[in-house]
Formats: sequence, structure tokens, C-alpha cells
Amino acid sequence: MELTGKNLIAGTLGGDGKSTFSAFNPVGGQKLKPIFVEATTDEADAALVKAVEASESLSRISDQVRADFLREVADRIMGIGAPLIERAMEETGLPEARLVGERGRTVGQIRLFADLVEEGSWVEARIDTADPERQPLPKPDLRRYLVPLGPVVVFGASNFPLAFSVAGGDTVSALAAGNPVVVKAHPAHPGTSELVARAIALAVEDCSMPAGTFSLLHGIGHEIGSYLVQHPSTCAVGFTGSLAGGRALFDLASQRPVPIPVYAEMGSTNPVFLLPNAVKTRGVEIAAGLHGSVTLGVGQFCTNPGLVVGMDSPSLDSFVDELAAITAKSEPGTMLHAGIRDAYEMRVEEVGRIKGVKMLAHSKRRTRKKDTQASAVVFEVSGEDFLASPRLAEEVFGPSTLLVRCDSVDELYAVAQRLEGHLTATLQATEADLTEYSRLLHILEGKVGRLLFNGFPTGVEVCPSMHHGGPYPATTDSRSTSVGTAAISRFARPICYQNFPQEALPAELQDQNSRRIWRLVNGRQTREDL
Ligand code: NAP
Repeated sequence: MELTGKNLIAGTLGGDGKSTFSAFNPVGGQKLKPIFVEATTDEADAALVKAVEASESLSRISDQVRADFLREVADRIMGIGAPLIERAMEETGLPEARLVGERGRTVGQIRLFADLVEEGSWVEARIDTADPERQPLPKPDLRRYLVPLGPVVVFGASNFPLAFSVAGGDTVSALAAGNPVVVKAHPAHPGTSELVARAIALAVEDCSMPAGTFSLLHGIGHEIGSYLVQHPSTCAVGFTGSLAGGRALFDLASQRPVPIPVYAEMGSTNPVFLLPNAVKTRGVEIAAGLHGSVTLGVGQFCTNPGLVVGMDSPSLDSFVDELAAITAKSEPGTMLHAGIRDAYEMRVEEVGRIKGVKMLAHSKRRTRKKDTQASAVVFEVSGEDFLASPRLAEEVFGPSTLLVRCDSVDELYAVAQRLEGHLTATLQATEADLTEYSRLLHILEGKVGRLLFNGFPTGVEVCPSMHHGGPYPATTDSRSTSVGTAAISRFARPICYQNFPQEALPAELQDQNSRRIWRLVNGRQTREDL
């Protein structure tokens, strides 16, 4: 499949445009062909006009057709074959095995959403039947379920060119709920984005979905993304990236005459707490696991553990010696693009200059600048100095971590209390530690979206019970997840019908439960007819 470099608006290639850009291979830094055309505001308007048209037809399309469409998207992505992996490798520097795995995760999550839509209970139908005899007032018949919001704008993430990008979780959950999607491609992997977008467009055609179900727009610089978020036809936004970017888009959306939800997943340092019995019995093992998690994907995961908190003890010293020794030997890796590598190096330098911070270890291997490489770093600071420098709690995106050495359990609790919102927190603990330090667990429950008992936060399972979200600034809405099937409800809203005749009700809310979905009828979960 030859790349065109053009925008894809409701199945049609856009024009030549005035402004262009290129992708670069982070390994070696060479410019990649072809030249990509930035979308104009006219093209953004056209994509959203088509998306609005599609919204109307999508609401009449059966769940079965939508499920078949999603499965066709998955098949079409797999059908691209090796060229997709090769292009993604060139644009991101990520290794083949990682990208093959990420493609598997991407199509796996698309098929999971297809099953969810086909089964149908995701609409959360609730029915309360009338009671005309109720005193002092009769009770009306009320029936509620979820309907799509309308056109959703999705920003592809740089660190997951497949699973959080053009056909990633945000796009797929929005499509699954019956919304059209306009994707703003990440400028670091426009070729990968085009390949996936064309696969989706072919699936749209094959399944006779409305053409405006999907569009892809390119852009470098903030203009087109800001325009899309402010556009009156946009009903919601999905975003994964920096805190600055997510916050800017959230603010733009709130200032619109009609504000809209922005589901932005942003920075997180995913603190790991080392409790005394665990460090004593498994310190060396924890050091190896932590190093693996910090350096996985050159630290470019939103669940990267950037903060480790422990209490001063000889066991902690042994843990630190082991972590420092492994880090010194670790190989540098290529980061996604020069901007991310430069930001990482700047932040490492900044952290190193903060009062009380000492560098425990730095990889001794030489990094190759032309290959956009960075290497692992471990810092240490006392609990007291950590509490005095709020900047130390902020994300350093890359393979670094900061050990906070507390001199008492009260200081450890104070550090936990000082934390802002994160996606995850991990307790390296024995069951006895959990009982003894139960207050820590209560503090962390208020700070994060996912708590891990032992293990490490990288590696996010895609399944119905996953919650990948957390209090601000990890996300802009701690109530929702960007991974797993629960993500579907972020792009839907409830509508309630009062005293409607049977024939005028949607099938999901009629007395006869023809879809056999789970419904809450008069307070009881059932699949029976009324
Ligand atoms: P980014 O700079 O936030 O960009 C993500 C997307 O948002 C891009 O399409 C970008 O397009 C757009 N964008 C950013 N700011 C915008 C604004 N003010 N107005 C309109 N559009 C905007 O993220 P990135 O390029 O992936 O990486 C940069 C940094 O983000 C990293 O160093 C890291 O700190 C962080 N990051 C965090 C995560 C995470 O999961 N938490 C993931 C990836 C990156 P344009 O550039 O074309 O405007």
C-alpha cells in the first residue's frame, strides 16, 4: 500500500494543501517519505459535516452491523501485514516484537468491543414500571438507557502508535457506542496513521457504514487540534499525551459556548511503596523487577514507575545497591522522537539539581545522540527534601526513577498524602505489611485508579474490569477509563423515556426483551420479559 501523505475525509483523499511536514526515523534521524499534508480548517469542517450526517444514520444501524464493522476493522488492520509493522518501526524506533504485540492488543481490543456491542447490555437499560395507584401521587413509567454523544475527536498518542492511536482504545470505544470519529493523527507517526486509517475506511465501505463514520486529519503544531476541539459539531474528545496538551484542550473545551467532555489521559509517576517485610525478604527480586518496569519501552509508558518510596533500613540499602548495579549495566534505548528525548534529558538534569537529590546510578553505556537514545537513571532523596520540593513529584517521561528514603512511617504517610492523582500505585508488601500499614492503603485509595499488590504497574490488561484512569492530573475525569470495555460509557449519555407507548420505545426498553440483554427492572437485574 503506497502512502499518499494526504488527509482522509469520509473515505476521500484530501487536497494538496499549503503546509506540509515529514516524519523522521529516530534511529539515524533520516527524513521519511512521503511528505504529509496538514489539514486545513476547510477539511476539518468537511470531516465534521460528514460526521454529523453519519451520526444520524449510525443511530439507526443495528448493533450487529456495528459489531461486524468493528471485526472488519480488526481484520483489515491485520490484512496490512508486515508493511504496518515496518512503517511503525521506522517512525517510532520501537522494536518489531513490541509492535507485533501492540498490534495484537489493538485488534484484540477491537474484537472485545465488537462482542460487547453484539451482546448489547452495555446500554445499561433500567426500567421502573408505573404504579397508577400510588399515593399521594401515581408513579410514572420510566425507562432509561445509553445513547451515543455524536462526533468524537481523538488525538493519537505518540507512545502507542497502534493501541492508543488511530484505531486505539478511544476511537474504538467511541465507534462501538455508535459515534463517528475524527482522528487528529500524531505527527510523529503519520505513515502508520495513514495505513490504519485506510484500513478503517475500507471497513466502512465493506460494511456499508455511512462515509462520515471515520476521518483522519494530519497536523503539526496545535492549530488543527485546537480547531477540532472548538468546533461546534464536536461532542467529545479523547486524548493521550502530555499534561500541558491535555490541559490546554480541556480548557478550550470548557470555554466553548457549549462545553464538551474531554477525556485526557496525561502524566503519572505511578509510585511504588516498599514496605519493610517485603524489602527484607524480596529486596533483590524487587530491584530487578522495578528496573525492568522502569526501562520497559525506554520508560515511555504512562504506567512507568517514576517514584519509589521506602523506609530507611539495612534491607533498603541492599535493595538500593542491587538497583544501582543493574542500572549501571543497562543498555540505552531509542526514544520515540527527538522532542521526547530532549525533554527527558532536560528533566533529568533539572531533577539532579534539586536540593538534596543525589544520583544513585546512571547507565555506564554510551548513548548515541543520532539514534535518539537515552539511558536509565536512578535518583535518591530524603523524605524531608522530597516534601520540600513539589517539582520532584512530577513526571519525568523516560527511563528514570526517584527513590524517596523516609526516616519514619509518619514521613512515609506524609509523602503518600502529598501525592497528586496517579494512574496506579503499587504496594510491595507482605500480607502482614498490609495489616500493619493499612493507613497507607487508605491514603492511596484516594490518589489512584488502580492499586497493585506486588507486581509492577507497566503492562495493562485489556478486559472488562480494568480501570486505566485516576484523579487529576493523571486524567481530566477520574470516573472513566481509557482501557477496557468500561470505556464505552464515556462516549454515551443516558436518555429517559417517561410514559411512552411500547412501539415508540427503543427495542432495549420494550416489555419484550427481544435482545435478551441484562436490564435493571424495578430494581432487579434480569434478562426476562416484563
Ligand atoms: P503531546 O505533546 O501532548 O501531543 C499529543 C497530541 O496532542 C499531538 O497530536 C499534538 O499535536 C496535540 N497537542 C498537544 N498540545 C496541544 C495543544 N495545546 N493544542 C492542540 N493540540 C495539542 O504528547 P507527545 O508528543 O506524545 O509527547 C510529549 C510529552 O507528552 C512527553 O514528553 C511526555 O511527557 C508526555 N506523554 C505522556 C503520555 C502518557 O501516557 N501520560 C504519553 C505520551 C506522551 P501537535 O503537536 O500537532 O499540536
